[in-house]
Amino acid sequence: MSFNAVKGHERQIDVLRQSMKSGRVAHAYLFAGLEGIGKRLVAQSFAQAINCRKKPDEGCGQCPSCLKIAQQIHPDCLCLEPEDGSIKIDQIRELQSRMAYYPFEGKRKVIIVNDAEKMTPQAGNCLLKSLEEPPPDTVFVLITQELRALLSTIVSRCQIIRFLPLPPHLIQHTIEERFGRREGMTDVLISLSGGSLGRACMMMEGDFLLERAKLFDRVTRLSDESISATLSLAGELASMKDEAEKKLELLKTWYHDLMVCKRRGLQERVVNADLIEKIEEESSRFTLKDLLAKWRVVRDAQYLLRRNVNTQVAMEQMLIALTGQRG
Ligand SMILES: [Zn+2]
Repeated sequence: MSFNAVKGHERQIDVLRQSMKSGRVAHAYLFAGLEGIGKRLVAQSFAQAINCRKKPDEGCGQCPSCLKIAQQIHPDCLCLEPEDGSIKIDQIRELQSRMAYYPFEGKRKVIIVNDAEKMTPQAGNCLLKSLEEPPPDTVFVLITQELRALLSTIVSRCQIIRFLPLPPHLIQHTIEERFGRREGMTDVLISLSGGSLGRACMMMEGDFLLERAKLFDRVTRLSDESISATLSLAGELASMKDEAEKKLELLKTWYHDLMVCKRRGLQERVVNADLIEKIEEESSRFTLKDLLAKWRVVRDAQYLLRRNVNTQVAMEQMLIALTGQRG
């Protein structure tokens, strides 16, 4: 992999290329944008471009340095990920002790912090110290899908590069290339992916569309069922951890569609177009205001999950608010 292999994001990559060519690589970048659109791949390709001797500022993808970075075994390219849902202060401290050494093999150390919004406040403040006094020859790349959840002091130390959703034709082309064309599936999936290639690929696996319809069905039926059914679904969602957030993303498309159905002439914007009959039926039961309130409930719950709160409590509160039950 190198810049050439990344789908889309030409402008963002160009900014990075120019910074290398002009010798003005920043100490810290913040890659912000939707999950699954390729931020991490660009970060890795950037690390390769910085350290590649065969094709400087571009990365060849084949030399020992590029290969080690791709396999995540390069001693100068460190990547931090959440552990059990959060990035903790001990992880940052360990990173800092490894940063104290000069680059072993490469030109610069590249530190990639994935899902940076999952840093605990203590971890964030600890990292801030490194951003305030950046070690020489070190480049930080923080990756986030929730810019608002990061400490403002961290954000202000970074050059922000915003990644936009990928255009539908690019997603279509890529998933057809990888999975072949599947009749009746591609359009709904492209629409559901919201411009995220990672999400589109994930949806191609298993019985995604069926599971999605079941989820909408269960949430819809909750208002006629007892509180124990609500708590049980909350428990199921909470036990999924990272998957829970994806389920909420789906649930947002459901309420989006119910709202869109309220407005004449907007039907073609329905995301779950294969479920149009159910959507029309359910939509007629609520006012636009109610539906907007429900969509917001899901969005807020999603935000809480990204902030690393108690997932069970967040799911219970969300479902209770959606069904109008009392907790
Ligand atoms: Zn190379």
